[in-house]
Amino acid sequence: MNNDILKVLYSTEQIDEACKRLGKQIQQVYAHKVPVVIGVLKGATFFMSDIVRQADTYMEIDFIDVSSYHGTTQSSGTVEMVTDISTDVSGRDVLIVEDIVDTGRTLKFLTDKLNQRGASSIKVCTLLDKPAGRQVEANSDFIGFEVPNEFVVGYGLDYDEKYRNLPYIGVLKPEIYTNN
Ligand code: 5GP
Repeated sequence: MNNDILKVLYSTEQIDEACKRLGKQIQQVYAHKVPVVIGVLKGATFFMSDIVRQADTYMEIDFIDVSSYHGTTQSSGTVEMVTDISTDVSGRDVLIVEDIVDTGRTLKFLTDKLNQRGASSIKVCTLLDKPAGRQVEANSDFIGFEVPNEFVVGYGLDYDEKYRNLPYIGVLKPEIYTNN
């Protein structure tokens, strides 16, 4: 699996440092609140579990599964709900935890939905921000790293459901997806 990686963008150590930094920021912002922290499946699972354990503050956690990619490196353009949260967010402070913000469509879909449901505040924490991919406005409050306009995998991010278990974030060799 490691042989499929062209270059490592962020090492395990760099990811750990980013999680500590973001966890402390979240702790400060939500010090006197009990936010509902919503991890976006499946890409944000490792990131979500790492940052919430760095924040010494009360919170509830939930997960939502939405999908816009179908085994490719290009977004289909339509976001679909796969599995919804079970928490009632009406009147609650919500923190969305994303793996990567690319076109911004997933984030817009989620913030629209949570606003419709009456969340009193919505903030976004993303591991990676890919501003060059943006097609709709989508801003994050907490950002791990900014990445170039390349398809990245690892630490939760997949290509065709694989590579999520890489302990670092890297760029796939182009032949991996051009051969498929
Ligand atoms: P957006 O809706 O902002 O275009 O994309 C959000 C979702 O697309 C992310 O949650 C992620 O699942 C997927 N995605 C976008 N860019 C990449 C990438 O470079 N690598 C991987 N593995 N997934 C990506």
